[in-house]
Amino acid sequence: MCQLSSGFSPKSSEERVKALAGLDRRDFLSFCSIMAATLGLSPSFIPKIAEAVEKAARRPSVIWLHFAECSGDSEAFIRSSYPSTEELILNILSIDYHETIMAASGEAAEAALQKAMTENKGKYIAVCEGAIPLATPPGPNAKKGDYLTIGGKTGLELAKEVCADAAAVMCVGNCASFGGVQAQRPNPTGAVGIEEAIGKPTLKIPGCPHNPVNSVATIVNFLLLGSFPKTDNLGRPLFAYGKRIHDHCPRRAHFDAGQFVEEFGDEGAKNGWCLYKMGCKGPETYHNCSMVEYNDGTSWPVKAGHGCIGCSEPNFWDNMSPFYGRLPNVILPGVEATADKVGFTLVGAAAVGAAAHGVYTFMNRKKFDPTLKDKEE
Ligand code: SF4
Repeated sequence: MCQLSSGFSPKSSEERVKALAGLDRRDFLSFCSIMAATLGLSPSFIPKIAEAVEKAARRPSVIWLHFAECSGDSEAFIRSSYPSTEELILNILSIDYHETIMAASGEAAEAALQKAMTENKGKYIAVCEGAIPLATPPGPNAKKGDYLTIGGKTGLELAKEVCADAAAVMCVGNCASFGGVQAQRPNPTGAVGIEEAIGKPTLKIPGCPHNPVNSVATIVNFLLLGSFPKTDNLGRPLFAYGKRIHDHCPRRAHFDAGQFVEEFGDEGAKNGWCLYKMGCKGPETYHNCSMVEYNDGTSWPVKAGHGCIGCSEPNFWDNMSPFYGRLPNVILPGVEATADKVGFTLVGAAAVGAAAHGVYTFMNRKKFDPTLKDKEE
């Protein structure tokens, strides 16, 4: 794996363009076609994406921060093969600080962060992985946020400092986006997502882990059009989170036909029937898993025979569990029936997704709003 010797990629733009030109052309165009498909663009955009990536005067500078998390999003990111890690780091992005993959540590790492921030002030993308603890631990000298300290600063102090001078803040994974598992009951560290911690809007690429094809496509969108993609009211790009999993699920025909897996290993499971009764949260989850799949299009949970657990939604650990329990109600009034009544409705899924998204996201936001939840309790 490529290592960043001091945390800062030294390649000039000319060197990067030269390096891109040296890539296997077929691999590079495969990457561009995946980006076009992910962004919902026609194949005619493939050469435009190639041109935007190749001719960008400067690779977008990325400062990647780790907070309260498991590093699963970094793991997913560095295991991409289209493009490969080396291509990502050296040619498509300028990843100037990333604790997991840089060689520097301690004071040298802190110096690398300061250098990256200074040299790219106002231009870098702050990629955040993990939640921010806001509670104060017990102890006479403890202060707010001390459950997580990095280089002598709390996660909150570090996030505010780095995100203040960023061109954009991109949260990868559910923890950075919405707090993730750390923020679920009883949440002893007072963990929250980045946006709530720093009080600044963020782009969110949730998932557990996020799918790197979506984070890279978000940046390619920036290279291609000079702006970040449109989002829903939770800050998730619509190209990736504009439709429910249920609306594009390859098992949807079985849902509509009332054909359900009743237990793992039964005939329905062998026949690839719908997993709703096994707890699938696809009817309440907005994500493009069924279209782009994970591990470079290899598979995704429903394809592998396990229901969706709703990992791109706020507070999914609390609100989507028990993971093997059926959603009590998947009804969008006048659009769908519950699984028990299914067979009576065969409304087109595509029309459902687009029209329902705004209403449903609003409903989810209310449902998942931690303030409302606390008031109800
Ligand atoms: S309930 Fe789950 S498995 Fe069944 S069609 Fe919907 S998303 Fe697919």
